[in-house]
Formats: sequence, C-alpha cells, structure tokens
Amino acid sequence: MSFSSRVKDELAQARTLTPCCQKAQSYGLLLLGRDFSVSSVKITTEHAQTAALYKQALAGIPLPENSISTVQKTNYTVSVVNEPARRAVLEYFGHSETDISLRLNRANLVNDCCFRSFLRGAFLSSANMSEPEKSYHLEFSVSRAKLAGDIAALLSEMDLNPKIIVRDGKHIVYFKDSAGIEDLLTAAGAQDAALELMRIKIVKDFINKSKRRQNCDTANIDKSVNAAVKQVAAVKKLMHSNRLDALPPQLLETAHIRVDNPYSTLEEMIRLHPAPITRSGLSHRLKRIVEIASEDGET
Ligand SMILES: [Zn+2]
Repeated sequence: MSFSSRVKDELAQARTLTPCCQKAQSYGLLLLGRDFSVSSVKITTEHAQTAALYKQALAGIPLPENSISTVQKTNYTVSVVNEPARRAVLEYFGHSETDISLRLNRANLVNDCCFRSFLRGAFLSSANMSEPEKSYHLEFSVSRAKLAGDIAALLSEMDLNPKIIVRDGKHIVYFKDSAGIEDLLTAAGAQDAALELMRIKIVKDFINKSKRRQNCDTANIDKSVNAAVKQVAAVKKLMHSNRLDALPPQLLETAHIRVDNPYSTLEEMIRLHPAPITRSGLSHRLKRIVEIASEDGET
C-alpha cells in the first residue's frame, strides 16, 4: 500500500468531532473534491473511505431525496445529481452560484480546532504524497487559482509554508521538505504517519552518514534510529500535553536540542549543547525525558 493511502486510512479513521469541526471537515472534503459548483458537485477517488466520508458529509446537509449518486468502477465517484440539491450544498457552506471565483469561506472555520479538521478533509479529497523512501513531496491539487492561494494562506497561518506551481491547468499547493510534510500530517491528525516519516528520514540520514564513514553497521543504525524516534516522540508528547516547560532546565535544554535535530547522532548532539556534557550524561538526560513522557496516562 502506498504511503499516501496509509495517510488517508489514518485520517479517515472514525473520530469524535465537535459540530464545528464536523462541518469544517465536510467543507474540506467537498470544496476540494473534483467539482464544487452549481453545475457539478463531485469527487472521484480510489480511496473507499474518502468516498464514504464525502457521502457522509453530503448526508449532513438537508437535501431532497435521491440527490446523491455513487458509482464504483476502478475509482469511486460520488456526485450530487440535481441542481436544486447542488444549490443547497453551496448555500449550506455560504457559497452562491453566482460566485465568479471560488474562494475559501472562512465562516466555515469557526474556531482554531476547525483548521485541522478542514485540512483533514482537504487532504482526503485532493492531496497526494510521494513514497518518502524515494523523495519528499506532498501536494494538494486545486482546480482554481484563487482557492489554491487561499489554501496556501491558511496553511501559512498554521505555520506550514507551502509553495504553489501550475501544472496541467491545476494549481498545485506543495511541500518538498520532510519537516514541513511531517508538521502537516501531524496537524491534519495523521500522527502515526508523521512518526513513520520521521523514522524513514532518520534511517536515510544514518545510512548516509555511515556510508560516508565507510562503515554501514545495520544493527547499530536500527538501534540509534529507534532511540532517536522514541526520544523525539517523547518530546513532542510533552509539548502537546503542555508539560515540556515543566522539565528541569537541563532536561528542557536537551529536549529542545533533540526535537530540533531529530536526525543527529549522540556525538552531534553533544556538540550542540552549549555547556560540556559527557556521552553518558546526555544518554541519562534522554532516558529521563522518555521516562517522564511515559509517566502520565496521556497519549
Ligand atoms: Zn472546530
């Protein structure tokens, strides 16, 4: 299964959403589907759960009976089959059929939490990722220029900084750096995929370093990678549960250095500490951070 499909599987998992976020996710799914206009409201996707969520999003809008059609061939196509129903869909999200250019209607993103839910829906409908073992590339394919600009602006507000290019008449909002992609996956709710991406990056990095040293010891790489992934995950967990700043100053310093340099070896991390620290001193600090992160029941 492709990395993209794994991300989509994770994003499409059943989750409890507040009404504001439910609407934001539905909006992302519909707005970034293949068409969103009075003449066509439609998605074509190879991802079954995305088609199901798209249908569910439509089901949340009061529409005349028998307005939704689902066709399954190689791909799934879900569409709204009559014009009054399509008009109702547009109106539900505050769009009018006379809108000359399709823009992002911020009124559908009521609270900060809704940004992430919108992003999740948008990802399911319009995003694709390369295999991270080969290259780092994540893109949203958007049919309208101004909408692509609005999506990029929204991402920037979330401290995610994409670029835009035009390809085959589509406006591509994309990321090419692994850190940016990792942050986007985390924001959208694909934490497992984000960790997997980090693990792949660390492995690649360690292998490159080992090759330079002409000493590719797979067992050691595995050990270092697993330790690094665990440590970075621990620091991120402390961040997300607002417990990071409660760490003693020395541990806090090491935590910041680890999370800012997830791909560094212990030797490199030692050099990054402003005050001298021994290898065993550093190992001890990292061990404590992992312990503290796992103490609390929060995940
Ligand atoms: Zn919300």
